[in-house]
Amino acid sequence: MLRLTDIKLPLNHDENALEQAITAKLNIPKSQIRSFEMFRRGYDARNNKDIQLIYTLDIDVENEEALLARFTKDPQVRQTPDMRYKFVAQAPETLTNRPVVVGLGPCGLFSALILAQMGFKPIVLERGKAVRERTKDTFGFWRKQPLNPESNVQFGEGGAGTFSDGKLYSQVKDRKHYGRKVLKEFVAAGAPEEIMYVSKPHIGTFKLVGMVEKMRQQIIELGGEIRFSTRVEKLDLVETDGKKKIQGLFLNDGEYLKCDQVILAIGHSARDTFASLYEQGVYIEAKPFSVGFRIEHEQSMIDQCRFGDNAGNPILGAADYKLVHHCKNGRTVYSFCMCPGGTVVAAASEPGRVVTNGMSQYSRHERNANSAIVVGITPEQDYPGHPLAGIEFQRKLEELAYHAGGENYHAPAQLIGDFLKGKPSQTLGEVEPSYTPGITLTDLAKVVPDYVAEAIREAIPAFDRQIRGFAKADGLLTGVETRTSSPVCIKRGDDYQSVNVEGLYPAGEGAGYAGGIWSAGIDGIRVAEALALAYPQK
Ligand code: FAD
Repeated sequence: MLRLTDIKLPLNHDENALEQAITAKLNIPKSQIRSFEMFRRGYDARNNKDIQLIYTLDIDVENEEALLARFTKDPQVRQTPDMRYKFVAQAPETLTNRPVVVGLGPCGLFSALILAQMGFKPIVLERGKAVRERTKDTFGFWRKQPLNPESNVQFGEGGAGTFSDGKLYSQVKDRKHYGRKVLKEFVAAGAPEEIMYVSKPHIGTFKLVGMVEKMRQQIIELGGEIRFSTRVEKLDLVETDGKKKIQGLFLNDGEYLKCDQVILAIGHSARDTFASLYEQGVYIEAKPFSVGFRIEHEQSMIDQCRFGDNAGNPILGAADYKLVHHCKNGRTVYSFCMCPGGTVVAAASEPGRVVTNGMSQYSRHERNANSAIVVGITPEQDYPGHPLAGIEFQRKLEELAYHAGGENYHAPAQLIGDFLKGKPSQTLGEVEPSYTPGITLTDLAKVVPDYVAEAIREAIPAFDRQIRGFAKADGLLTGVETRTSSPVCIKRGDDYQSVNVEGLYPAGEGAGYAGGIWSAGIDGIRVAEALALAYPQK
């Protein structure tokens, strides 16, 4: 197959235009093309009066070698690389020590799936409930029922990304094309086919729920075992010659599970587990993350600004944005986890604390656009002195938000105009808040450190210069956004094992090795492979 990159066509091109573009580029007759498929479709909307679609196409063509020779100097024409996933190992015929995967978020899900596909019959331990039951608890909390600290937006089958926009892109390096394997498995489990080729794929909440169930089923059919409501409380470590080694796990129900190969994919919110690991001497470092607020605007305003008269075109869908501003106080403010046509969600996992995040359905048809507007913070500058200090930093802000919201899980909120002027809000404007169970209008500056409020105050007008209307007075800020990434790194070596505990494979977002669903899935595959290769191979 030949791969043609950077083929640009106008947004509303006709059906035959792709074939014509191929024949024109390769200077061949139509009859020489056997078939072609889309590998990638993105768009360039910098000039919204002339939006261009940008294609990468894979073409099955006659006389491929001669064509390749003709285009050796043209970087747009290349042989299609082999991106198929190949298993690196196979489980031994008699498997006496089954590997254990802790956590069934995207990282644990892909670790377990790949291990199961290689015959390792993993045991998966997940503190939360199966996804349907978890959905009831989570949506219940949003409808004013009590928070279940073990079954919520962060904890339970599918992990933190289950009630999300399901964006599937990130800037991770993926030389081995694990990302394609993640997308293919998602499609096999029911994700829309288009995630294989659109440049910014997304799935949306309800589809994710069904997909996670199907993937669980596959793991079980391949001999894996999944235990819900099973929390790992403590590792059983043995020390020889100054080196720790894992030999079992203590579980919340009092059970002891003997094991010597454990993938730890616990996400960024398992604060109790981080504390337990630290107490047991697992090497952990504090790492930078970001804090701030969710911002909401009407989606129609964002669409109009980004796409002009092309707003509403189904190929473009609801518009997103990505913004960065470097502030005078040395801080960087940026937009994060933008959810076009979505809602702001209550993402708390601990009682007495309020946290925001965002989600959308596949259609992205809700009235508001939301994103986190966050400020980068570092251990050196903002929470020095202890590997777990970032967690205490998060907790403090989440508690301030809980109190400012009225101590009933309503989130504190403020109109953008009032926030910029530094005065508490009294009444809402045109942007209706989407956060449930509800919001309390107040002064949001009191839930974050001064330097965070100051930086966001400087950034919003700067963002308005890129998206006109971004600083509109009746846009809404809701707080507080603290779970942007893990506050810790559970350091691992080149063999993917903890730097000081043999047999422990820290993985995914919680360990500091992924940020988002797709990259967590990729990391899950990487770590599963490393673990599998630690078993003797034929
Ligand atoms: P997690 O998904 O956090 O999974 C960890 C799992 O481990 C959890 O299920 C937890 O219950 C379990 N666990 C924790 N401790 C223990 C223990 N001691 N014993 C047993 N089990 C344990 N990312 C995107 O790429 N796109 C998006 O659109 C997006 N939207 C998001 C929206 C929301 C509301 C949230 C909360 C997150 C969103 N994210 C999004 C981030 C994304 O969800 C995470 O990056 C991703 O889920 C990380 O995967 P993970 O498997 O490493 O950890």
